[in-house]
Amino acid sequence: MIKPIPLGAPEIGEAEIEAVTGVLRSGRLSLGEERPAFERELAQWVGAGYAHAVSSGTAALHLVVRACGIGHGDEVITTPFSFISSTNCFLYEGASPVFVDIDPDSLTIDETRIESAISEKTRAILATDIFGYPAEWQPLADLAQHHGLQLIEDAAQALGAEYRGNKLGSHGHPTIFSFYPNKQITTAEGGAVVTNDEQLYHQLKSLSNQGRGPDMQELQPEMLGYNYRMSELSAALGRTQLRRLDQFLARRREAASWYEKRLRDVDGITLLKADDETHTRSWFAYVVQLTRHLDRDGVINQLAQAGIAAKAYLPSIHLAPHVQAFGYKAGDFPVSEAVSESALALPFYTSIKKETVDRVCETLTLILSGLHSKTGVANRSLPQIPLRGQSPG
Ligand SMILES: *Cc1c(COP(=O)(O)O)cnc(C)c1O
Repeated sequence: MIKPIPLGAPEIGEAEIEAVTGVLRSGRLSLGEERPAFERELAQWVGAGYAHAVSSGTAALHLVVRACGIGHGDEVITTPFSFISSTNCFLYEGASPVFVDIDPDSLTIDETRIESAISEKTRAILATDIFGYPAEWQPLADLAQHHGLQLIEDAAQALGAEYRGNKLGSHGHPTIFSFYPNKQITTAEGGAVVTNDEQLYHQLKSLSNQGRGPDMQELQPEMLGYNYRMSELSAALGRTQLRRLDQFLARRREAASWYEKRLRDVDGITLLKADDETHTRSWFAYVVQLTRHLDRDGVINQLAQAGIAAKAYLPSIHLAPHVQAFGYKAGDFPVSEAVSESALALPFYTSIKKETVDRVCETLTLILSGLHSKTGVANRSLPQIPLRGQSPG
């Protein structure tokens, strides 16, 4: 029987198992030496002054919003095409989202449309490096500076991506990463904020640890805080993954090139934007856009019947019920909505093999040619296999 192909899978080896069992044997499961070591190593790898590791990417976003003092009555300009937590993070604090549609090629926020969305209530611009592709950080930084706004970067999908020759996270504004199992590296659950601002770094550390003062053991807090701490188990896992990250990124890039070669000439598919002099993608997911008239759910079902996991990825944020409550509706952001309706994530992970990519591409091509000829694909050519696997995001 042919093995089912999952959408994603973490890359866990003996080194990771040893690192985590080492922490278990030490008896020191939280507030030990692993997390600060992971933070130093991450900051160094990214090229940022400081890194603070926390319990999730969402927690990292929330802490930055909180530390920036964004709250009730404030507006945050952001992208509708991202994972939901890039908006949820400031809804937690009572701020309102002001969405700006995306660029149809890069799928990141269209910075040329931001200026007209700025009001006297605007406090911040929060942009996402979607599918690992850098947003337009220089124009975004210029806009933020000109209007006195905070700039926040959601690089949860983009560890290792480069903008103008420097890694994301090194450009000065606070940047968050996620270490959920489908991201470039994992700590099981986990995330981090990187920043060059020492004061912000100390604030983040305190906020994630019940608002404690510089002596993190002191039980009397200085302010309202949270428990967003990263455990020693996660940090040890993260340190091991970080040592293998360059190799992971090279393998993911190669896997993406296998897909590209097989799919670039297939009718009905648009591939993600290629790199240029100022943008280097860090491969997070392999996402294609299907031509409008193609039945994406049908394609997903036929892939599933062949034992291949695929997923509609991802929905536009302004159409989530709790976000629509701010007055948004279908049709407000046509570019984002069109991408949401056509994007399809295919199996993609560090250890994916060339044969696996070949099988996915062959099956997808067969399904699409069936749809084009309107005769459907004969089911006998697609073996039925039960599905399991890691979902993205
Ligand atoms: C994964 C992800 C997050 C959230 O990270 P968690 O660690 O799952 O909380 C935020 N933003 C984007 C764009 C993501 O892909």
